[in-house]
Parts: sequence; C-alpha cells; structure tokens
Amino acid sequence: MTERANGTGEKVRVVVVGGGTAGWMTAAGLAGLLPAACTVTLVESEAIGIVGVGEATLPHLRLYLERLGIDEAAFMAATEATYKLGIEFRDFGRVGDRYIHPFGTYGRPLSGVAFHHYWLRRAQAGAVPPIGAFSAGVTAAEQRRFERPGADPNDPTTSFGYAYQFDATRFAPFMRDWAEARGVKRIEGRIVAVERERDTVRAVTLDDGSRIEGDLFIDCSGFRSLLLGDALDEPWEDWSHWLPCDRAVAVPCASPDGPTEPFTRATAMPAGWRWRIPLRHRVGNGYVYASGHASDDEAAAALLAGLDGAALAEPRFLRFRAGRRRRSWAGNVVAVGLASGFLEPLESTSIYLVQAAITALVEHFPDGRVAAVDRDGFNAAIDAEYDRIRDFLILHYHATTRDDSSFWNHVRTMTIPDTLADKLALWRGSGQVSKYSHGLFLEPSWVAVYLGQGIVPTGWDPRADVPEAGGLDRALGSLARAIGDRVAAMPLHDAALARLA
Ligand SMILES: Cc1cc2nc3c(=O)[nH]c(=O)nc-3n(C[C@H](O)[C@H](O)[C@H](O)COP(=O)(O)OP(=O)(O)OC[C@H]3O[C@@H](n4cnc5c(N)ncnc54)[C@H](O)[C@@H]3O)c2cc1C
Repeated sequence: MTERANGTGEKVRVVVVGGGTAGWMTAAGLAGLLPAACTVTLVESEAIGIVGVGEATLPHLRLYLERLGIDEAAFMAATEATYKLGIEFRDFGRVGDRYIHPFGTYGRPLSGVAFHHYWLRRAQAGAVPPIGAFSAGVTAAEQRRFERPGADPNDPTTSFGYAYQFDATRFAPFMRDWAEARGVKRIEGRIVAVERERDTVRAVTLDDGSRIEGDLFIDCSGFRSLLLGDALDEPWEDWSHWLPCDRAVAVPCASPDGPTEPFTRATAMPAGWRWRIPLRHRVGNGYVYASGHASDDEAAAALLAGLDGAALAEPRFLRFRAGRRRRSWAGNVVAVGLASGFLEPLESTSIYLVQAAITALVEHFPDGRVAAVDRDGFNAAIDAEYDRIRDFLILHYHATTRDDSSFWNHVRTMTIPDTLADKLALWRGSGQVSKYSHGLFLEPSWVAVYLGQGIVPTGWDPRADVPEAGGLDRALGSLARAIGDRVAAMPLHDAALARLA
C-alpha cells in the first residue's frame, strides 16, 4: 500500500465496490472527511441495480449530513423526506397493544436517578399518566406535530431526537451528485473477477475487460458480498434461530387523506411484522416474514389487504438471512452495508450501521499498510453495534404473550442469547437497564420496549422511594402538563414540511 499524503505524498487508492446507499454514503464520507488522505473510485452496475428499500432512519443520520455540510432542506426535498420522531409498535406484546418508541428521553433524572424509577413507583399506585406523556417526542408524534428540538437537552418539554423517512431510490443518487462534485470517480460496469493474493485484494476486473487496482477496497456490493464473502470467504455467523424472518415483500401506495404521520409504524403480523413509512409523495409498505411460517402468496395478500391507499407498483419480494460476517474488515477489504451483514429493519438500523462503519473507518483509516490494530479496532466497534442491535430486536419478538400463530409461539418460547437474558433479569428485578457508554439503544429505548411490551419490573431504584408521594405526584403531573402544553404549540407535521418547501 502506498503511504498517505502525510507520508511519502501518495494518497491511498480506495475502491468502493457498489453504488447503493452504503457505497455512495461511504464514497461521500471519505471524499468529504479525508480529502488529503485518499482518492476514491466507485464501481457500480446499473444493470444489477440497488436493493432500493431502506426508508426509515435514525437521528444519527443528521450528524452524517451535518459533518459533510449537507443542507437538510435540500436533502429532504431531493428524497421526498418526512420527519420521524420514533416508531409506533402495534400488536407486539399482545394483540391490541400499541406504544411509541421515541427518539429521546422520558422526563429528567432526579438526584441522579433515572426518571423511569420514579414513574415505576407511582405507576404501581395508579397515580401517574402513561410513560409516553413524559416524552415530548411521543406526545408530538401522537398529535402529528413537529418542530426542531430546543437547544437545552435537559429541558424535557423541548428535548427529543428526530430522524427522516425518505425515498430509498433517491438517496443514493443524491449522495452520488455530492460525492462526484468532490472528486469521486464513478465507473459503470459489472465486476466479473477479483484478483487476490492471500487476504489482499489487488484489483477487480469488469465485464469490458478493464482492471481497477486499489490499496483499500470497500465492499458495498450488497447481499452479494463480492469481496468479503465471495473472494475472501469470511465466515458467516448465522442468527436466524433468533431472528427467523428471512423474506420481505414491499409495495408503495398512495398517501391517504389526512395528516402525515411523523413516525414509522411496525405492526405485528401472524408470521412477522409489516412496516408503514409515510413519505411526502407516497407511503412505503412491506411485510417482513419467516418463510417457514407463511408463503410468499400469503404474505403478499396480507400486505395488499392492509394498504391504506391504492398500490402504486407490483409487490416486490426480497430474501435475506439474519447475521453477519465474522469480521467486517479482513485483509484490505472493509465491508459496509448489506455486504457485512443484515439485521431486519424493525428498528431502522441498517443505514445507521453503514454510518457507524464509515465513522469507524475514518477513525482507523490506514496510514500506509493496514495495521492489525486499526483493523481490530474497527471490527470490535462494529461487533459491539451488531450484537447490541441483535439483542434489542430479539426482545421485540420474545417479550410477548401472543400465542395465536406458530411464528409467535416459536419466538415467545425460544432460547435467547445469554446477553439478553441477563439484561431481562436485571430489568425484571430492579428496573435497571444494562449500561453501555456508546452505541445504539441507550436506557430510554430499552425502557420504551420493555414497558411497551408489558415487562413491568417488580422493583425500582430504592432512592426513588425518598420523595414524599403527594409531592412527587404533583411534580410528575405538572411535568406531563408542561410537555402537553409545549407540544400543543408546535406546528402540525404537514405545516412543518410545507414550510421547508
Ligand atoms: C426489506 C428491507 C427493508 C429495509 N428497510 C430499512 C429501513 O427502513 N431502514 C434502514 O436503515 N435500512 C433498511 N434496510 C437496509 C437498507 O436497504 C440497506 O442497508 C441499504 O440500502 C444499503 O444497501 P447496500 O448499499 O449495502 O446494498 P445495495 O443497495 O444492494 O447496493 C449494492 C450495490 O452493489 C452493486 N453491485 C453488486 N454486484 C456487483 C457487481 N458484480 N459489479 C458491480 N456492481 C455490483 C450494485 O449494482 C449496487 O450498486 C432494509 C433492507 C431490506 C432488505
């Protein structure tokens, strides 16, 4: 490998294989953040195309756009985006249940003790409103309102997170324009051969015979995993025994009359769950299901029967497996996106994983030769992300009393990973959430799903017993009212979108 610009003066030659969301986000990220360290060439095949789904995101995407200096309004206009305050889950814990998993916190800590402990104490006595009333994000979502969060993260009436819901087929082209304007070179063609020496890829060959050499290869070839999976044969870690959904059928439909929801909806179905993602120009829908529990025809019929507008295309089927490559970075190949693994979109985590990989790559970008310490640091960061998301997703299936289909009977009674079993035991006994300092799904997210799916702990932090009950109830009541009043003054989501235009 050549030295970086700060070494002998030569830049690292990066070759990105694939031009879907992962490929163009990575190319743009490297061109924007490391312009002095590398040159970026991206190879993609229009004939193969992109997966074209992936419409619901997490708030971290805002940071990606901000770091690259991308204007939010321009991005939202180009991708027909709406705002997203969280995900509404229906029928998961029990048929008829619903809750919103918001971005952001509940209430505010008191004397260093998380808010939910006080809430648990008084909720047992039936003295306080549902926990969602203490989240500005949930309250705004319920009222279909949106405005940007306030500047004070400690003010529970104005602090919440938000993300976007966008047209997946428009995001990669948007990032492509941005990246090409910053020097990324795009080559159209189908890769037919990969040249390697042990675990080092030297070049890829296209169907027209041309050969593209590189120092560092980023595999963004989607489920094909051309470099990491096919060429380097990195082992696959299969998680389908915990996450048995292996198919999806997707169809867009016309937007119904009425307000545009600032949230994604996930509704449990007999063999999985369905998504509903409201965009500006249409609604995205899909049914993620386990082929062992429903046929393709059954899934498509169930999806079409539940649309709330006319279907705008034929149903499209996708196949996948839950799991990941044992390492995302092997030799001089770094896999980003679906080429590195797949976790179903129940919590909209895939584009976040793309972003996490870009961040880790920039932090561990090779200076000259690939150093084991960089590769291992990158892999450790990505492993932790995958493992945590995996446990969080399994919780949505396992924390249920549903016994109305073979699918729900399986996930309710299956053995879960020890890491999740430990988290559940801790929560059930003491209302405590296992802590980690970085990564996705911190305390409020676990609280949302535990409570939303009916896992109410028997205890809480004993320090929450200190305040006198009457005074605590008054304080909690006035906080819920303050959040309600503040949210009622926010514009409707549709008005906020119109203002953007
Ligand atoms: C059903 C479903 C729903 C999803 N929903 C969400 C969601 O709501 N939120 C979310 O964050 N994520 C979601 N995802 C995941 C999300 O779609 C992906 O993470 C994202 O689109 C990135 O895909 P990718 O770029 O890795 O792969 P792809 O889009 O498949 O891109 C692969 C690229 O590689 C190129 N390529 C492949 N082989 C060759 C070759 N031989 N030669 C040249 N080029 C080649 C292709 O042309 C293409 O450009 C969902 C995924 C599925 C399956």
